[in-house]
Amino acid sequence: MSAVHDPAALTVHLPSVPADGARIAIRATGADLGFGEPDFRNPDFEVASELRLTGTLAPLDSGGFRLRGQLGGGVDLECVRCLGAAGLALDERLDLVWLPAAAAPSHPASDGGDRALDASDMNVSFFEEDRLDLRAAIWEQAHLALPVKPLCSDACAGLCPECGADRNRVACGCAGRIAAVGDGPLSGLRALMAKEAKTGASAR
Ligand SMILES: [Zn+2]
Ligand SMILES: [Zn+2]
Repeated sequence: MSAVHDPAALTVHLPSVPADGARIAIRATGADLGFGEPDFRNPDFEVASELRLTGTLAPLDSGGFRLRGQLGGGVDLECVRCLGAAGLALDERLDLVWLPAAAAPSHPASDGGDRALDASDMNVSFFEEDRLDLRAAIWEQAHLALPVKPLCSDACAGLCPECGADRNRVACGCAGRIAAVGDGPLSGLRALMAKEAKTGASAR
């Protein structure tokens, strides 16, 4: 095996990949990867320091290529409850296949015919010319690894819906005043919470 990728370019020159595979070992910051540029617009996460892609890229008999490896590194997300930082350590096993663009189905499954190359069935992408852009793979696989609802902690108390205080840091005391807001979509729940708050207060 030999390293064939240009670490700066983050692309692999496919004709140079030997039959027994090429070792891939990339460490790249978000800036190295071009995240935030138009091709990789990045509203969902920031690379904390760097991402690491390691593995082996080997040619397939079909003319395609298969990468088996691992994606690691840290990303910064936003907690959906308190909007604070929610860090995530990526540790994803990858098994990705690229086929020549000529093999891409032009009319996906419309004729019920050969669906063996249907990209939706597995991790299949397509490459053009003789280069593989590993930035796109890192981008996609990092996104696939993100939780739907990132949390800074499972116990995150979130922001107070009344005053906006971060309830992880301050006890704003709004719960007892919630009954004053009477006609929102949660008014029934609020009334119940207020009643419980009063009951609790009188019991003390
Ligand atoms: Zn949080
Ligand atoms: Zn509050």
